[in-house]
Amino acid sequence: MEEWEVPVRCFKCGESYGTPAKHFAIGNVLWCPHCYKSVVVKDDLNFRVRTTLREFYERWNKNLTEFRSKREKELREFHEKRERELKDFESYQQRELEKVKAQLQTISESYDAPGRPGKHRSLFSWG
Ligand SMILES: [Zn+2]
Repeated sequence: MEEWEVPVRCFKCGESYGTPAKHFAIGNVLWCPHCYKSVVVKDDLNFRVRTTLREFYERWNKNLTEFRSKREKELREFHEKRERELKDFESYQQRELEKVKAQLQTISESYDAPGRPGKHRSLFSWG
C-alpha cells in the first residue's frame, strides 16, 4: 500500500505525476517532473491521501470478502442441488425397481407353460 502511486496534479503547471504513497509524509517535498516546482506535504494533504487510501483499501477488502462468501454460498447451493438430484434419482430408481418387480410377479403368476400340470399355478411354486 505504501508503494502505491498516488496521482498528483501540479498546481503550477497543471500536469499530473505519480508519487508513491509513502512520500506523502508531513513535511516531505514533492517535485513536479514537468516544471520542477516543489510542494511541501502539509498535514491536510497527508491526511486526505491516507484517508482516501485507507477507505479504498477497506472497500477493496470488503468487496473481496463479499465475493468470496458469495462464491462459497454458490458452491454450497450447487452441492445441495446435486444431493437433491441424487436423492430424486435414487427414489426414481427405487420406484422403477418396484414396478418391474410387480411386472415380474404378474408374469410369473400368469405363466402358463405348455403341458404344465395344474394351470394357474405360480411359476415360483412350480417344481
Ligand atoms: Zn509542474
